Amino acid sequence: MATTTGGKLVYRLEEGNASMSQLLGGKGAGVSEMARIGIPVPPGFVITTEACLKYYERGRKFPAGLWDTIVQSMHHLEAESGKEFGGKGNPLIISVRSGAPISMPGMMDTVLNLGTNDVTVLGMAKLMGNERPALDAYRRFIQGFANIVLGIEKDKFESLLDQAKEKRSLKFDYELQPDALRELIGNFQDVVKEIAGHPVPQDPWDQLRDAIQAVFSSWNNPRATTYRQHYGISHDMGTACVVMGMVFGNLGPDSGTGVMFTRNPATGEKALYGDFLVNAQGEDVVAGIRNTQSILSLQQDSPDLYRQLEEKARSLEGHYREVQDIEFTMESGKLFILQTRTAKRTAASAVKIAVDLVREGVITREEGIGRVVPDEIAQVLLPRFDVEAKAKALKDGKRLAQGLGASPGAATGVAAMDPNTAVSIAELGKKVILVRPETSPDDVHGIIKAQGVLTSRGGMTSHAAVVTRGLGKPCVVGCEELHVDLEARTATANGTTIKEGDVISVDGATGEVFVGSVATFSPNPAELTELNTLLGWADEVRTLKVWANADTPEQAKEARAYGAEGIGLCRTEHMFFAEERLPHIQRLLTVGTEASRLLRNAEQLTATLEKAPATELERLNALLSETNANLASSEAVKAFYEELTKLEAFQAEDFYGILLAMEGLPVVIRLLDAPLHEFLPRYVDLVKEVAVLEATGASGDELEGKKRIRDVVEELIEINPMMGHRGCRVGVTMPEIYEMQVRAIVSAAAQLTKEGHAVHPEIMIPVVSHVNELHFLHDRLEKVAESTRVLFNVDLSHKFGTMIEVPRAALTASEIASVAQFFSFGSNDLTQMTFAYSRDDAEVKFLREYVERGVLPVDPFTTLDVKGVGRLMRIAVEEGRTANPELEIGICGEHGGDPKSIAFCHSLGLNYVSASPFRVPVARLAAAQSTLGQLKLAE
Ligand code: PEP
Ligand code: MG
Repeated sequence: MATTTGGKLVYRLEEGNASMSQLLGGKGAGVSEMARIGIPVPPGFVITTEACLKYYERGRKFPAGLWDTIVQSMHHLEAESGKEFGGKGNPLIISVRSGAPISMPGMMDTVLNLGTNDVTVLGMAKLMGNERPALDAYRRFIQGFANIVLGIEKDKFESLLDQAKEKRSLKFDYELQPDALRELIGNFQDVVKEIAGHPVPQDPWDQLRDAIQAVFSSWNNPRATTYRQHYGISHDMGTACVVMGMVFGNLGPDSGTGVMFTRNPATGEKALYGDFLVNAQGEDVVAGIRNTQSILSLQQDSPDLYRQLEEKARSLEGHYREVQDIEFTMESGKLFILQTRTAKRTAASAVKIAVDLVREGVITREEGIGRVVPDEIAQVLLPRFDVEAKAKALKDGKRLAQGLGASPGAATGVAAMDPNTAVSIAELGKKVILVRPETSPDDVHGIIKAQGVLTSRGGMTSHAAVVTRGLGKPCVVGCEELHVDLEARTATANGTTIKEGDVISVDGATGEVFVGSVATFSPNPAELTELNTLLGWADEVRTLKVWANADTPEQAKEARAYGAEGIGLCRTEHMFFAEERLPHIQRLLTVGTEASRLLRNAEQLTATLEKAPATELERLNALLSETNANLASSEAVKAFYEELTKLEAFQAEDFYGILLAMEGLPVVIRLLDAPLHEFLPRYVDLVKEVAVLEATGASGDELEGKKRIRDVVEELIEINPMMGHRGCRVGVTMPEIYEMQVRAIVSAAAQLTKEGHAVHPEIMIPVVSHVNELHFLHDRLEKVAESTRVLFNVDLSHKFGTMIEVPRAALTASEIASVAQFFSFGSNDLTQMTFAYSRDDAEVKFLREYVERGVLPVDPFTTLDVKGVGRLMRIAVEEGRTANPELEIGICGEHGGDPKSIAFCHSLGLNYVSASPFRVPVARLAAAQSTLGQLKLAE
């Protein structure tokens, strides 16, 4: 089929193959591949993308010779199908489809049923043994051609169609009988004549020429151009045009149409799955005119067809080495495969299919590992909405609002607007969803009792998000369209109001919120044998270790069960969230400033005394006695030590449990990093409470107590608490707190060692920006550790290290590595401080828009920003390891559970990533895919 333009512009299907999508488009290459391997596809040919480009070069005219080649190809098609284009008796009816090298679903145009006209429709009716479907195909053709080729709005025809049904009191299109259809076809043509000046052409060759030109032109329609712009697809590729014979499944009882999956897309079971409708066209299936029958039932009803289908399914699956979703039509006993593609499937079935294909020898283990999207694994493990229940809820208009899916899993429960109500409802044995504008540590007892959390504010690293991810509970945050009215005890979105006590459902994966209950489904981990097999293979491959973030012994056990090889972050401040502990940390922090001022005075005076000349001794000794007396009588100091003692007991108990749960494995315990606003009562609330007490004439003590707290909190208020008095800054100004924590860690570890358990604690200092902070703390804390160890008289070692979460720390990594034995990237803060985006505000205020408008490719709190934050990390790794080749380096920000970020961490040569417990399996797979180069790095 040479053309005068030199290049071959038209290919018969058998001449192409799967690798030719640049020239034949994705669709053209796909059907060509099937034709090439002997799968029965409807006969056809492909006009190349090059022809399309030449068409444009020539000012939207066919290049020389193209039309002649198309005509020849059509004659070939007639011969192959035994049908005649425009013929009376056995007419050839075709489709003319667009198909670009890169899939652009629905963006370009396609004309179906081409070749129908007043004459051929009669032949079709005879073949079908029924006028209705033939006339209906003709009606659809006119509508499609008029719209796509002549640019006449669809609405013009839709309203005529509606009128035709109304006139006859009919509900569905398929109820229109031949007379009505004939009338409609006449009316359609009148509209076309009126608008275009001529009707849809009767001559099928005219129809064909016009349709091909329309397909070429659709490459540059506004939809397609915008789509390409959005996805960064080149405008220079052009579209191919696939011309294929239409096959009809409605020619009698030995015809039909259907869709089949080579394996069950919901469960992964190896059995054909799908629907078949005898004597019907594809659109009848969509219209739901008749009930379809399952493919499996064909085994009995039509064993011959079933055998053919099974054979085609196996050969397509074998050829593509992947589960297929296949569309087929049977025309007068002859089977045609219309399309095959990789089947979309649930996460659970993706895992089973990958493992089965490996076991069947179809793919290698490495390929099997690459076949599952790591993020989907979380879905396999967590409760989720029942698919049908969710579809029904959507159909019934029950979707209340859309927020950010911050912690996956699905839950249904009674809405509670404060944590105490949540606890009371839970104690009645009911399920609860805690609904708040945002959460703080004051809410944690409610979060613990709730099935899920919904907040109108906050982003992916907000308090609610981080806490629920740790707990493995569903959470939707930043649901801005939801107005939570704590006075009225209601939440309103999109005109619907729910009251406290009403049932709602949340999907923490998608961020959707529903009114009422949506049934959920919980997988049983014991039955996840395929997942465990796949993860076992992943473990053999990966070089990056996977640790977990866990704050309690329960979370540590859960993490270990999911395969964690260590704890990379134990946030000790989270250990104070429990209802009985929170008041103690709050009191410690509120008296801490005053107490540490007095303690530091005494320390400084003692140091001065040691070096003072004899003449000064008397005066300084007197001053010291006075200071010590002040210390002894200070309520603040007394309270400070009381709370330290209480908290030490809590902590020692927790550390004991966590270290025991992780026996034999490393446990990184981070010393307190409590941004004050997350721990103290809110100033505005205290002002209100004082005003209420005053107005109700409350008596002295209560009022005075409240006022005192209000005044202290007022003093402690920070303009920007995330950059305020937190992390090691509290450790430096109130070292007693860190000393207490180190005592608790070492005593728990020593006790366990005494009991014969091997434990490996690692003490981590947060929010370090200068090596001197580390020097200061290292000296003091190592003394405490050593004296505690000596007390227990055991042989015990620990590591001392730091988080890298401030850019300055990354940039001075060599200095820092001279003190620290390990680095752990706190990528949440490192992102916050590199971008200067407040993690509390950015996601809700502007980040979403940034991503939507393409200003940022992704939310940097979810996927590491490789160019900026990643560059700092690279500097820290290189300089840190040069200064200290033994340096252990990990990451414990939320990015530690994000596959693309994991791929980057692998490329940096980190030792481990640390993720929330339920994301440990995700990280195991992502780490293996990183080793195998299957995972694209974050950009
Ligand atoms: C971090 O900053 O990445 C981190 C893990 O610490 P946190 O989220 O507790 O600030
Ligand atoms: Mg941090």
